[in-house]
Amino acid sequence: MPGRLVRRISVVEGDITEQNVDAIVNAANRTLLGGGGVDGAIHRAAGPELLDECRTLGGCDTGEAKITRGYRLPARFIIHTVGPVWRGGQHGEDELLASCYREALALAESHDLKTIAFPAISTGAYGFPLPRATVIAVRTVLDYLSRSPEIDRVVFVCHGDRAFNLYHDAVMELAPEYAGEEPPDSSASEEPGSADQADDLKEQVRAQLHIIESVHGVRMVNREKLVGEISRHARDRRSVSLITAAINTWIAVNGITGETEIPGDELDRILTRIRD
Ligand code: ADP
Repeated sequence: MPGRLVRRISVVEGDITEQNVDAIVNAANRTLLGGGGVDGAIHRAAGPELLDECRTLGGCDTGEAKITRGYRLPARFIIHTVGPVWRGGQHGEDELLASCYREALALAESHDLKTIAFPAISTGAYGFPLPRATVIAVRTVLDYLSRSPEIDRVVFVCHGDRAFNLYHDAVMELAPEYAGEEPPDSSASEEPGSADQADDLKEQVRAQLHIIESVHGVRMVNREKLVGEISRHARDRRSVSLITAAINTWIAVNGITGETEIPGDELDRILTRIRD
């Protein structure tokens, strides 16, 4: 269902302990007895009762997940998962990291929890390269949500601008695939400029603008007009991506939220720049 999936994903910058969701995910270590980074922040915010409950759990294996109450957090539950330590990428790190996201979502689902916030598991003390971890996180969550209607919303909580931008770009890049909006095979015998291709570009523009709206919490009041103008000017799917990425940057740089109208002169500047 085009566009549907991305409405169930948010990317925010901030502190995971402050998230108002059913469960937050902790990037814990195998002892589950607390540590630094996000684990330390969660234990501090939840209070000492959390450690008491964690002591009863008997630790947790890498790639698996266990649940506790949230105590003093706004979140009712904490799902503790243990990410892999980065050892160069040849030791099953990718699969173990994906498993953390899948197991946490499955545990949330089995407890009937509807909203869940994730930190960037393994990307701090455990040294997993952030860009690679981001793609795994976003892909695994999209994949899970596309198969399960039970979870309403997943929030990626990013610590800092760099993480926010990486997550945002990964959602933009990957969500259309899961919404059945994969680019058609470029070897297909489509005549350039055919009616089918024009419709396809329009759909792509619409989907990309929708993702931008979801990620930034904006509503473009002139969205259909933009769809028309961009799809008329764009030569191919790549130029659609370049144009919508420029609109995305303009919204991010200007800190726009809520209802907005992308100004005509700004759009003209973007279209001219991409054409040249
Ligand atoms: P790991 O040991 O799994 O690498 P870390 O806690 O060291 O876990 O780091 C995981 C990620 O969590 C890092 O990207 C770090 O920037 C981020 N992080 C640290 N504190 C917070 C917080 N309070 N809220 C959200 N993310 C956080």
